[in-house]
Amino acid sequence: MAFEGLADRLQSTIKKITGKGKVSEQDVKEMTREVRLALLEADVNFKVVKDLIKRIKERAIGQEVMESLTPGQQVIKVVKEELTALMGGEQSKIAVADRPPTVIMMVGLQGAGKTTTTGKLANLLRKKHNRNPLLVACDVYRPAAIKQLETLGEQLDMPVFSMGTDVNPVEIASKAIEKAKEDHNDYVIIDTAGRLHVDSELMDELDQIKTNLKPDEIFLVVDAMTGQDAVNVAESFNEQLDISGVVLTKLDGDTRGGAALSIKAVTNKPIKFAGMGEKLDQLEAFHPERMASRILG
Ligand code: GDP
Repeated sequence: MAFEGLADRLQSTIKKITGKGKVSEQDVKEMTREVRLALLEADVNFKVVKDLIKRIKERAIGQEVMESLTPGQQVIKVVKEELTALMGGEQSKIAVADRPPTVIMMVGLQGAGKTTTTGKLANLLRKKHNRNPLLVACDVYRPAAIKQLETLGEQLDMPVFSMGTDVNPVEIASKAIEKAKEDHNDYVIIDTAGRLHVDSELMDELDQIKTNLKPDEIFLVVDAMTGQDAVNVAESFNEQLDISGVVLTKLDGDTRGGAALSIKAVTNKPIKFAGMGEKLDQLEAFHPERMASRILG
């Protein structure tokens, strides 16, 4: 699982301070220096680390800690609260349109896990929220992507709307929404095209779909294994499309986890879900507080 290295380091750092009946400014400085190094090593964005450490220091050297009866534990509480806030604070909910169907647009680079996540999200909406989604294949450049979504639909026993590769994605998506209304599908999840790199042609196409469909959510799917690149990708998609949330995939892998800790701070958009494996039931709602607890032990 991602974060193991970071978790080990942070846990041994904070252990030194937990039981202390008295915490000096020097203790806090030493602790924050180690936390800083651990975060940088976990590939957390440099500026994000700087701001976080500043806040932890301000609070830990302040009255809140120094005058408490259990200063050691109080310092840890501060670190945990700040890590939680960094990852988005509260868990974010998924939108529900006033009038169904709720339209979710999935965007991201090829290989990030977009199509798989489309299937996983549909599965989660049905299982946890009792919804009845329609999946839409809008990657008109890769017949294999359409086939992949159709296969997922078969596995899930869920409808998939596709019109092949010769129709404009805006038209496919609009027709899909009409179909969802007829068939009483309350969610429409659109799997859009991906590319190997961010490029203007892709962005223009996504922007057209967005303008025409006015989706309730635009989820950017990013691969946590790609570290700082994931953060850069999130930044450019957000600039162009004003996304509503992020799905971080492959958090089950041996990643350093920095992306999860930087994305919210850099884009100011919440991480809504985390992909924890290749199987269709391995998508979890992202809980910043639980994640911070996992990291800090
Ligand atoms: P797309 O090109 O963005 O649509 O990516 P795909 O959905 O085809 O996924 C690319 C690869 O990543 C596939 O082999 C997926 O099984 C794998 N994958 C997707 N999400 C996860 C995840 O959360 N964990 C792991 N380990 N693999 C994932």
